[in-house]
Amino acid sequence: MIPFSPQTQTAIEFAADLFRSARRAVVLTGAGLSTPSGIPDFRSEGTGLWSRDEPLMVASLSTFRTAPEKFFQWFRPLASQIFNAQPNPAHLAMAEMEKAGRVHSVITQNIDMLHQKAGSKNVIEMHGTMRTLTCGQCYHQVDAIPYIGVFVECGEMPRCPKCGSVMKPDVILFGEQLPQSAWYQAQRDARECDLMLVAGSSLEVLPVAGLPMQALDRGAHLIIVNNSPTYINVRADVAILEDVADIIPAIAKRVFHG
Ligand SMILES: [Zn+2]
Repeated sequence: MIPFSPQTQTAIEFAADLFRSARRAVVLTGAGLSTPSGIPDFRSEGTGLWSRDEPLMVASLSTFRTAPEKFFQWFRPLASQIFNAQPNPAHLAMAEMEKAGRVHSVITQNIDMLHQKAGSKNVIEMHGTMRTLTCGQCYHQVDAIPYIGVFVECGEMPRCPKCGSVMKPDVILFGEQLPQSAWYQAQRDARECDLMLVAGSSLEVLPVAGLPMQALDRGAHLIIVNNSPTYINVRADVAILEDVADIIPAIAKRVFHG
């Protein structure tokens, strides 16, 4: 690995110091955390998946309701990528920090289950999850893995074992509300933490983008690691414009070994 610039090295050390003195640290992650694992940014334009179809149309609740086959056609390559993806060093470092009591919870905008695959336990999924499917008719919920496997193989839409209706992955589509309990929990964690690390999120999607502000308002420290600046970088104690898969493990290493 290329050594960090002196400026980045100093920022890493400062970030590690903040973690060491934190009583309750919370992590907020977005699509940029999973791009090193090969998952395209679900919501940003210009990626292969988005450019073929109009994402706001296809990945919306109204399309799902009126033309689920259109949704599933778009969803198929994404589902395959997500189920085959592996956590990268940033996910693993966060899980290790949680295990060591250095991270209280991970609030994520991602639906790819990579934090859980890495071993994180306290994960708040703001945009839902690929882990389960729910029937639109009778609300019966099933484990997604057997259904998505068949779907990715032969393209057949997953159907409810109880009533035969099409089942929807429990991810939050455009036009759909955030899961209420996740949102309450995220707000509580943002208010109660004394350190927030934002990693791989450009903080462009509300209301999640407002969480660091809530943390700052309560006097928490803020670290931002993202390869492009966010609206709140000016208020961060540390802001590092680099790849999360390089920086987060470097911070964790410093937290553990000085
Ligand atoms: Zn059903």
